[in-house]
Amino acid sequence: LVSRKKKAEDTIIDLKGEKVGDGSQKMIIGPCSVESYEQVYEVASAMKEQGMRLLRGGAFKPRTSPYDFQGLGLEGLEILRRVADELDMVVISEVMNPQDIEMATEYIDVIQIGARNMQNFDLLRESGASDKPVLLKRGLSATIDEFTKAAEYIIAKGNENIMLCERGIRTYEKATRNTLDISAVPILKQETHLPVLVDVTHSTGRRDLLLPAAKAAFAIGADAVMAEVHPDPAVALSDSAQQMDIPQFNEFVESLRQSGLYK
Ligand code: PEP
Ligand code: MN
Repeated sequence: LVSRKKKAEDTIIDLKGEKVGDGSQKMIIGPCSVESYEQVYEVASAMKEQGMRLLRGGAFKPRTSPYDFQGLGLEGLEILRRVADELDMVVISEVMNPQDIEMATEYIDVIQIGARNMQNFDLLRESGASDKPVLLKRGLSATIDEFTKAAEYIIAKGNENIMLCERGIRTYEKATRNTLDISAVPILKQETHLPVLVDVTHSTGRRDLLLPAAKAAFAIGADAVMAEVHPDPAVALSDSAQQMDIPQFNEFVESLRQSGLYK
């Protein structure tokens, strides 16, 4: 059902008036982890000034080590909702447990399924039964075929509002955190009717590569770029090495605009 052969026209997802997949370029921005109201508000205000309304932030964090910060959970969702309501924004946040979907969707507008859960089939099925759009990230070592089949689990339950997010895959290369598979973007655009996103933060894992990766993403046809921004990345509770601070974020956006690849 995700195939272009089944549906020729592009699926356009309308997030409170922000359309993804309609040929416009969108930015999905926010901190890696929700840490406090003030932290989220600061980032969201900077986004608003740039005309961006798609706010992301993690409340349930899939951490490699059980001893690392696991996220604020419900309190994180409450913070995201409060900030989004105050600034008229859209909340995108990861859910890890299928049993949390009902509770989480009282606060969030888009269910994110993270790379580590791309093949959590119960989670895929449960989000397919939800009326909220789903942002599905490519698994750490998933082929494009496995990625589209994961999306198929969601659409098979009746939810067609799926965004596919390339976030880098595991290769032997160590210069970047993951290897951004940029050609996955046009392949997914050709083979499916779904919007395709590129997460420049988790794919590169390097602040100095965020701008060139975002340019490449838009140049090759991505519908949106995702990046992480934190008021003070040095003290961030997760991903401190790659989040942009607010002046860096503003520079990043200005440079993208100057490139003509993003309006
Ligand atoms: C995220 O976007 O917050 C995240 C944890 O990314 P990924 O699932 O791609 O590793
Ligand atoms: Mn992160």
